[in-house]
Amino acid sequence: MINILPPDVYNRIAAGEVVDRPYSVVKELVENAIDAGATEIGIEIEGGGKDRICVTDNGCGIAKEDLKAAFLPHATSKLRTAEDLTAISTLGFRGEAIASVAAVSKTEIVSKTKDGEGWSLSSDGGKTGEIVPAAAANGTRVTVEGLFFNTPARLKFLKSDASEEGDVTGMVARFILSRPEISFTYLINGKVRYRSFGDGLKSAVAVIYGADVLGKCFELSAEKHGISLRGYIGNRNFYKPNRSYQSLFVNGRYVVNQTVSLAVANAYKNYLMTRQYPFYILFLEVPSEIVDVNVHPNKADVRFADNRVVYGSVYSVVSAVLDGSSGALEYVAESSLPRAEVKSTFSDPAKSGAPAAGMSYAEAKKELQFDVSLVGKPSPIPHREQAPALLEVRAPQEKETDFFEENRRSLLEQSRAKQEKLDPATLEFKGELFRTYLIYEGGDEAYLVDQHAAHERILYDRLRAKCEARAALSQPMLLPFLLHTNGQEFAFLLKNLDVLRSFGFEIEDFGDSFKVSAVPVDLFGMDLEGFFGEVLSSMDTLRAIKLPDLLKDRLATMACKAAVKGGEKLTDGEVRKLLEEMEGDMGIKCPHGRPACVKIRKTELEKLFKRIV
Ligand code: ADP
Ligand code: MG
Repeated sequence: MINILPPDVYNRIAAGEVVDRPYSVVKELVENAIDAGATEIGIEIEGGGKDRICVTDNGCGIAKEDLKAAFLPHATSKLRTAEDLTAISTLGFRGEAIASVAAVSKTEIVSKTKDGEGWSLSSDGGKTGEIVPAAAANGTRVTVEGLFFNTPARLKFLKSDASEEGDVTGMVARFILSRPEISFTYLINGKVRYRSFGDGLKSAVAVIYGADVLGKCFELSAEKHGISLRGYIGNRNFYKPNRSYQSLFVNGRYVVNQTVSLAVANAYKNYLMTRQYPFYILFLEVPSEIVDVNVHPNKADVRFADNRVVYGSVYSVVSAVLDGSSGALEYVAESSLPRAEVKSTFSDPAKSGAPAAGMSYAEAKKELQFDVSLVGKPSPIPHREQAPALLEVRAPQEKETDFFEENRRSLLEQSRAKQEKLDPATLEFKGELFRTYLIYEGGDEAYLVDQHAAHERILYDRLRAKCEARAALSQPMLLPFLLHTNGQEFAFLLKNLDVLRSFGFEIEDFGDSFKVSAVPVDLFGMDLEGFFGEVLSSMDTLRAIKLPDLLKDRLATMACKAAVKGGEKLTDGEVRKLLEEMEGDMGIKCPHGRPACVKIRKTELEKLFKRIV
């Protein structure tokens, strides 16, 4: 028998598509406030948004007779016909958000239009009550409490308060950037986190990232053939450890779009190394006929009619500015560009096409036409990495190799190498080679020890043992190190403070940043900026991986840097100590897996000298 689901059941299922987390609720409510023409929007969250979300606006309000309809699925004032779908100018259009949110929470809407009275309507898990009069200023206030209280399965999937809060903060930051003409107030558990004044993009960027960031950015403004790109991109020396400092707004909507992010990443390719990510705040406006925003239930991505044109436009503008090519003159906003940057960008004589010396800015601008959709060289549309070609085709061997036998043998050798613990007392130090390899003799065997690799390994093991014993020693620093983070980074580190502490870091949260006052003893003097950069760079991919494993890996890298480098001569005492610390373990490898010790049998030498065959 086929049942038609009652609306409250249907809505509870459908709700999962639009609102799956507190940040998506905030997103939908703020979008509604923007669509209502608000100039002031207040956002409050408590308990990471799980306990309470409240969005207040001074927009057009909802008339009493529309209040009930706002709670109904597919009820929207923004779209009437299917044709309207081709030219969506509002952020909302599905009419699903309020119904979905209301189905899985206790929601109250209080609203007043300019000419009407204030009215309130509440819903408990989708069951709406009666409309009652309420004192209200012009505009709307939506309060959502107990999110997912009636869908325990969903509730279980929510992350920690700090983590949800971080994602909400990331979302709110994007709204503040995308609508610099609106003044936002954002409170977390009653404390102001962001307050913007609606006085322009520059000021909004300063609210979110601090005023000094502007000095490290180019301001862009480019327009051709109905496509416009403007905003800020970090200069060649300004990068971030992960992608959370990248914002793209397509026709005013914050989206994460593969085509655009690839175009920007490729434009930066010559300037950034792996795990360095560009900083950008980009506004892309395209004619609404060539962009489809209706691809994702929570509208997190858009689809372009022609990805190549979009890719080409973004790539050409960003790379022209970064490369300092002549075309960039058109895109770099004149007023904003720091003088020094103009020089360093355009005075490079090696770059062809740079405006001739003495040519005025305006002349250069007129002379050099740059076509956004027609890049001089074909824009490199990225293709998947090709599978490595087979290097050689082996001729069939005369005798069939028994792979099983070979495997067995190598496994046996490996396990023997592991067991091969020699008594250091039986080894005699015979000198060193190339200031890197220490030579030991023991019985009929000689051992070459890579002092760098061995030392690295020793440091790494020592540190790891300490971590595991929860007894890592901290070394306080003279000056504490201040680590600035954004919402997501903050939440990530906050969740992992205990892990970092167990490794010997003394770290505490400090508003929206962290104060590091001590580091593991063995890593004293380390490059903290670099270290935390590496930790944060894995944030995007880390959800599944455990931080302790990552830290061990990073510490190994640092240990490697702190270790005795090949080329330095060890004293006799150090050599003896090294050997003792190795406890005669000749099978050891450095933390990267390179062998730290190589064994040469006497017979192998004898073969070389043809003493035996
Ligand atoms: P959509 O935004 O897709 O139209 P929603 O479910 O988010 O759907 O909202 C339903 C309707 O409720 C909107 O079309 C709008 O008419 C009204 N509405 C919701 N929030 C507000 C608000 N803050 N101010 C004015 N009207 C609102
Ligand atoms: Mg909406």
